[in-house]
Amino acid sequence: MRSSIRLTICKKLRRERRRTIAAARSPSSPGLFYSRFPLGEGDGGSRVKAVAAHTKASLARYRGKRDFNQTVEPSGEVPVQPSQRGRFVIQKHAATRLHYDLRLELDGVFKSWAVTKGPSVDPADKRLAVEVEDHPLDYGDFEGTIPKGQYGGGTVQLWDRGYWSPVGPKTPEQGLQKGDFKFTLDGNRLHGDWVLVRLKKRSHRRQAQQLAADQA
Ligand code: MN
Repeated sequence: MRSSIRLTICKKLRRERRRTIAAARSPSSPGLFYSRFPLGEGDGGSRVKAVAAHTKASLARYRGKRDFNQTVEPSGEVPVQPSQRGRFVIQKHAATRLHYDLRLELDGVFKSWAVTKGPSVDPADKRLAVEVEDHPLDYGDFEGTIPKGQYGGGTVQLWDRGYWSPVGPKTPEQGLQKGDFKFTLDGNRLHGDWVLVRLKKRSHRRQAQQLAADQA
């Protein structure tokens, strides 16, 4: 998908529900992401196998960019149980340029966008979100320093995590394809509706999109 998307956040918060969910969670600490999340009941063997095959192909780009003898990042070899609710994570990444990586669990991987300056809760404040390669689910636990000279060299810290769900009648795949992907974040920091909108300008490099809070 060579296109641009904007991500916007929504003011319309379903506060009661979110407060309940947030209260049930302990403060974030590295290395414990998945163990603290209620894992899914399981979707049956055939679906799990289908997801595994899809995941392998989907992560080829991720693996191709990295030397796992050099980087401290997960290789994605460790299986992570699929969750009934989609997980999300935002990692603050002090690479050559500081950015925030938004990752949404979809089809056994984290769909990922590098967001400039980090998400804003002001719907008028749109952030450029550049789509990057799918990441393995065990990346959701990752914090550490990628050595200088390696791809993404710099320090990665967990900034937020929780669950996401699509908003509206479109499936996530349809929303992404249309360049109008709406979703809700239920995280420790972020709560509300956001939208990733594809930028039409040809001048934008790569998969640029915008992230913004949704006014609806
Ligand atoms: Mn990054």
